Amino acid sequence: MSRLEQTSPDHGSRPPLVAECDVVVVGAGFGGLYAIYRLRELGLKVIGIEAASDVGGTWYWNRYPGARCDIPSLLYSYTWSEELRREWRWSEKYAAQPEILRYAQHVADRFALRSLIRFDTRVTDADWDEAAESWTVRTDRGDCIVASTCVMATGNLSVPNKPKLPGLERFHGPVYHTGQWPHQEIDFSGLRVAVIGTGSSGVQTIPMVAKAARRLTVFQRTPNYSVPARNAPLSDADIAAAEPVIAKYRESLESPEFGRVPANAFDAPVPERDAQWARYEQLWEQGGGGILTAFPNILTDAAVNDVACDFVRDKIRGIVNDPATAEALSPKDYPLGVKRICIDTGYFATYNLPHVELVDLRTEPLTSVTETGVETATRSFTLDALVLATGYDAMTGALAAMQIRGRNGATLKEAWADGPSAYLGLMVSGFPNLFVVTGPGSPSVIGNVIHACENHVEWITACLGSMRARGLTRIEPEPDAERAWMAHVADAASRTLYPKANSWYQGANIAGKPRVFMPYVGQGYRHRIAQIAQRGYEGFVLR
Ligand code: NAP
Repeated sequence: MSRLEQTSPDHGSRPPLVAECDVVVVGAGFGGLYAIYRLRELGLKVIGIEAASDVGGTWYWNRYPGARCDIPSLLYSYTWSEELRREWRWSEKYAAQPEILRYAQHVADRFALRSLIRFDTRVTDADWDEAAESWTVRTDRGDCIVASTCVMATGNLSVPNKPKLPGLERFHGPVYHTGQWPHQEIDFSGLRVAVIGTGSSGVQTIPMVAKAARRLTVFQRTPNYSVPARNAPLSDADIAAAEPVIAKYRESLESPEFGRVPANAFDAPVPERDAQWARYEQLWEQGGGGILTAFPNILTDAAVNDVACDFVRDKIRGIVNDPATAEALSPKDYPLGVKRICIDTGYFATYNLPHVELVDLRTEPLTSVTETGVETATRSFTLDALVLATGYDAMTGALAAMQIRGRNGATLKEAWADGPSAYLGLMVSGFPNLFVVTGPGSPSVIGNVIHACENHVEWITACLGSMRARGLTRIEPEPDAERAWMAHVADAASRTLYPKANSWYQGANIAGKPRVFMPYVGQGYRHRIAQIAQRGYEGFVLR
């Protein structure tokens, strides 16, 4: 029987908590930590609940070799505390997981947040009591907490997708999922290892696993566009030089134009192909995801995007020695950037190593996992360990895993049976006083999720503060406002190339999941939600 090797939190023993408070915050990743901080500052009694043994969210769980951020560390940081910004020093351009986890831990200690959080505790149920206007939150530790408000900061990529590969349970060796990596170092040296999945996690871990393994077989279903990170240590001079860029970015966060698709995306002039190519060369050399900012219409105009795709395919052909492998690694059936672009360190070159092999599951489907390895339609692979880099039940998975019963007794999962719906990506009609941090219908995973979390936490805090000041106890979106917002979210996506890929953005990676494009890719989201608040929370019913 194969085991899925993972961290099993030490539940230890503690008496169940029976308590009342103002707000329960579920999750202690970057969204939850900041929510706990801000709501406590507002003077509210807050209880945080976290399934992991420590803070950090995705950075607690994703300990796979090669895990690091895909946004420069200097930007992948909170903006809300100038002291924090000054006292924390990132060591690399793209920080690795241990350093990002240390940052989250530092924030928890620096702002004394840990004592407010129940770790190793998973929320199982949350029930709305209409008469009492409160949520009763229950956990797998027997806790029962009554709170007037719930803030779900459960993360967009926190429920691993573990595909039902036929025979997987028979495999005799260890099976690891990148999103639930063990805490101890895994030594692959001398082993025959397979990685299934070539999204961001696979692309980051494959070169690292290849360094140790005796043989590495990569099973790829869909090739991904990946660009070099060009990671490097950060010197003091680098940090000083980045200051104006960071200041400009922070300023831009407040701009009405801030958003993924620029205002001139649909009619911006684009230079000739050679000039486009030259720009891509420059950005490729620079490294990171800058390629997506090359032209304002790169995500809206197929002709512009096609050149970028050709450029990356050309690069792959230039790096990978074996033409057939290069061909298999080249994405051809979807535009660049409409699945999260991968940022790698030596990914494509890894396939030039003699002990690394790519298996294209499109031409050679995986038929079963056996006691000793993997079988495809044409071959058998003997393996000692298996790595699943197969992604997540994204954006809705963690919310649907809890029994959240709203005003009419229906669960959130039932309410979302045909696809998720949330007004502004923040609240769901029928679920009063329940806020979702970076929920479906908000920009969330498009861009810098830490800043998306900050934006929502600040909006929620201001909303609760304003309600308190006005003696209001209940807030819920109007169904019509929510419907109109989701229609707008769909319309915004339809104006772009995003829907042209089977991405987790639209639930396409999970069998049976309704296809709804979940992130908001329109313009000026921050400005819009700020205005809605200013106009007395338009589209919400408060009382
Ligand atoms: P992902 O992008 O969903 O990739 C999962 C991979 O597994 C895909 O190649 C997928 O193929 C494959 N797969 C899934 N089920 C399979 C099956 N049954 N058989 C064969 N292959 C299968 O997941 P991820 O790589 O974990 O990344 C998810 C997101 O997390 C990223 O898009 C990013 O936002 C975030 N992330 C960020 C970083 C970072 O750099 N900071 C690192 C890791 C993750 P198909 O494409 O054909 O479905």
